[in-house]
Amino acid sequence: MSSSPLAAPDSVPASGDRRRHPAPAHLVFFHGPMDCGKSTLALQVDHNQSRQGRHGLLLTQGDRSGTPQISSRVGLHREALELDPGTDVRLLVRDRWAAGHRVDYLIVDEAQFLSGEQVEQLAELVDESHVDVYAFGLTTDFRTRLFPGTQRLFELADDVQRVQVEVLCWCGLPGLLNARVVGGAMVREGATVVVADTAPAPAPSTDSVERAGEPEGAAVRYQVLCRRHHVRGQLEPTPTGPGQLALR
Ligand SMILES: [Zn+2]
Repeated sequence: MSSSPLAAPDSVPASGDRRRHPAPAHLVFFHGPMDCGKSTLALQVDHNQSRQGRHGLLLTQGDRSGTPQISSRVGLHREALELDPGTDVRLLVRDRWAAGHRVDYLIVDEAQFLSGEQVEQLAELVDESHVDVYAFGLTTDFRTRLFPGTQRLFELADDVQRVQVEVLCWCGLPGLLNARVVGGAMVREGATVVVADTAPAPAPSTDSVERAGEPEGAAVRYQVLCRRHHVRGQLEPTPTGPGQLALR
């Protein structure tokens, strides 16, 4: 076998060598209160990406439908893989590659439930494997504190965008904060994560939970409020009229 003197094995990168010519990938985080349209936006981003011939992997956690899918209240839904707190997202993607599937981007819904470690794994996929990551999640919990996954995404994402608020408080101001309502009253303490319905009135699908300090089996729901009415714990107009509020 003769070898050409012109051969310079190290001078020409193998085709598909993405480390040598990395395509810029990004970690983008979209956040907002409940009902602001995050899941709808997630499905829209997936649609736009797949129309360009790119292959995505959809991930979710504790989806409200109870099955692994990304679903929006406008009726759209797509199958997704369910993450649990112990899932290594890097291994998940590498397993797909090993099985011969392309993964160009990730759509991560309910990203507020990610652990800080999982957010770091997503950042590694962006930087080392050039996978684009679009994460969607709640900003704050019912105590107005950042979710852990949200906080880490704020810290690490290339781009953080607040989703255009489509949901209003009962007073007409933009709804920014999530209130947890148990048995008709707003609560400020309890487990961070209780998946429940966000319908304004208790629906048949509303979860029932039992926890110390709360009515046994009381229906849990969530309601989006403006900051003022979240602070006051006021879920609806007071029957005595707004004048009463000024006396506080
Ligand atoms: Zn309000």
